[in-house]
Amino acid sequence: MSSLTGGDPQQDLVLMMEVQEEATYVRHHKKKIALCFSAMRHFAAELEGYGWRVDYRALDAHDNRGTFSDELELAVRTHKPRAVIATAAAEWRVLQAMNTWAARLEVPVQIRADSRFLCGVEEFAAWADGRKQLRMEYFYRDMRRKTGLLMKGDQPEGGRWNFDTENRKAAKMQLFMPEVLRFKPDASTREVIRLVAGRFGGNFGELEPFWFAVTRADANRAFEHFLQAALPSFGDYQDAMLTQKPFMYHAVISMYLNCGLLDALDVCRRVADEYHAGRVPLNSAEGFIRQIIGWREYVRGIYWLKMPAYAQSNFFGAAAEVPASYWTGETDMACIRAAVTQTREEAYAHHIQRLMVTGNFALLAGVNPHSLHEWYLAVYADAYEWVELPNTVGMSQFADGGLLASKPYIASGAYINRMSDYCASCRYDVKLRTGATACPLNALYWNFLAIHEPQLRRNPRLMPMYRMYDKFDATEKSRIADSAREFLAKL
Ligand code: FAD
Ligand code: SF4
Repeated sequence: MSSLTGGDPQQDLVLMMEVQEEATYVRHHKKKIALCFSAMRHFAAELEGYGWRVDYRALDAHDNRGTFSDELELAVRTHKPRAVIATAAAEWRVLQAMNTWAARLEVPVQIRADSRFLCGVEEFAAWADGRKQLRMEYFYRDMRRKTGLLMKGDQPEGGRWNFDTENRKAAKMQLFMPEVLRFKPDASTREVIRLVAGRFGGNFGELEPFWFAVTRADANRAFEHFLQAALPSFGDYQDAMLTQKPFMYHAVISMYLNCGLLDALDVCRRVADEYHAGRVPLNSAEGFIRQIIGWREYVRGIYWLKMPAYAQSNFFGAAAEVPASYWTGETDMACIRAAVTQTREEAYAHHIQRLMVTGNFALLAGVNPHSLHEWYLAVYADAYEWVELPNTVGMSQFADGGLLASKPYIASGAYINRMSDYCASCRYDVKLRTGATACPLNALYWNFLAIHEPQLRRNPRLMPMYRMYDKFDATEKSRIADSAREFLAKL
């Protein structure tokens, strides 16, 4: 952590604060708040164990002032430090507040770059400078070269940079599918759970059972478990979805990476070691490493390159509200029900559930991207704006008009049916295109292409779909439009 680098426990004091503003700027899932506060409290205890003095400002302290800036001002008055050193906030909103500190406080303020990322904000801006298109694939290749991960000299391991085409197998329910490693809350976590239940009881999501790791040691155990139990099949089943198996072969570590319990480069090196030791196939190792040194670093770069305007992107002018079922899980659509129910229970859904279930449906239903962004930011334990916003606004909703994705990620029911077991238990018929019992995604899909034809027809990746749409006769086209309109009116 860059603010502690070079620090001296003999004379420096660490200030840590739980503040109402951060806990409430969206109505976070209860598990997410508990994770953050408990991990902070355990880290404070760890630092004290190493001899550091920590001024820990708990949320329920009677004089807690509720914001980082006000708390810092109080701490400066109390402790009279020679200087304040902080790590730059990961979110634009918080960094704006930090940038006022130097003028507001009567001590020098040093804001250091966040050293937990592999590509600095300036480095990404230099990479992006002058490029017509900012495609992740080219950024990723540069990051492979920079880190040396899965490289043979200057060539990629296995002769290809990307094995994504091998990572699209559907999964069948198996009894011996790995389970995610869960941890029993200790006394300190139980105290946080009580605090969250009391202060945020009305927020979205189930607080208990709370099983997340809250220390670096436990987060490492969870990752070690993933390496052995799930990584070998991670690649094959990366896109698959099963109602009874929320975690499948995923790592379930984004919430630990994002709050600092795991280190991005370290986890990638450990995955590369598994590959070199012959314990995991290349498609799994490459797929995993690409998500982290590719997508994760890339979306962060885009975020800092394009904020603050990026948050207001709305290429399609979408204006509908987030469907009520995204909060309740109550809907006849089995795919949405499964994704939202698991989100309520675990504050987790894997990438394809976010992109191709809730994201896809919201895009086809014309949901306002900013409202949807606030939903994603609230409901996942790993959600922080720097990573969530580009994923939602750019990748999932194409609201940036194609800066991040080369085409909108849209799909009809056929895709969900191929990649999941959801349709088997759904009231709707995935094979029907129109009518009251037809899978709503089918009419919505073709309707979306029809209404956004002026913006999308010339997209080379969508041309085959427009050629198919052109073959529908006028009656079928009007049935599609009617079915979509009737469904959206009821929504
Ligand atoms: P795995 O599938 O096991 O992948 C390993 C790691 O790769 C993840 O832990 C994560 O750190 C990284 N990763 C994978 N895909 C992405 C991606 N697209 N962008 C950034 N990192 C990635 N991820 C977040 O960390 N926070 C968010 O708020 C978030 N919001 C999202 C919103 C939408 C609409 C979409 C489509 C994706 C979002 N993602 C977000 C990306 C991805 O869905 C999660 O990182 C992933 O599901 C976390 O589960 P996992 O740890 O089991 O990941
Ligand atoms: Fe979802 Fe359609 Fe399948 Fe039902 S039939 S689960 S709505 S894709």
